Amino acid sequence: MTLLGDAAHLMPPNGEGANLAMQDGAELGQAIVAHPDDMEAALAAYEQNMFTRAAADADDDTYQVMFGDDAPHGMVAMLTGAERPS
Ligand SMILES: Cc1cc2nc3c(=O)[nH]c(=O)nc-3n(C[C@H](O)[C@H](O)[C@H](O)COP(=O)(O)OP(=O)(O)OC[C@H]3O[C@@H](n4cnc5c(N)ncnc54)[C@H](O)[C@@H]3O)c2cc1C
Repeated sequence: MTLLGDAAHLMPPNGEGANLAMQDGAELGQAIVAHPDDMEAALAAYEQNMFTRAAADADDDTYQVMFGDDAPHGMVAMLTGAERPS
């Protein structure tokens, strides 16, 4: 068993989540083709790449806007143009 898309790495609505879910699917397919007789090796190869990529995406500024210490004020400020409280 493995995971892909938001189940593996929940994405904020920054315009990437659906694309990354499709990329996960494509890379999982490639890993299975590369290890046709060893599903565990295929899943391990897929997960290593996917989790490394997902960790890099987790630094996205959108997370700070939506889930930062001042949430939900960052999101309100983004939508209304109001200043974020310091
Ligand atoms: C407001 C908003 C705007 C967004 N805008 C964009 C954008 O512009 N571009 C972009 O790329 N991404 C965008 N995203 C992110 C994108 O929608 C997700 O990253 C993407 O849908 C993840 O795809 P997924 O297949 O992993 O999960 P999902 O699309 O969530 O699919 C999971 C499916 O599993 C079903 N399900 C859940 N539990 C069960 C169960 N027990 N049994 C059976 N089925 C179940 C759900 O009903 C759902 O259909 C946005 C997200 C939000 C919230």
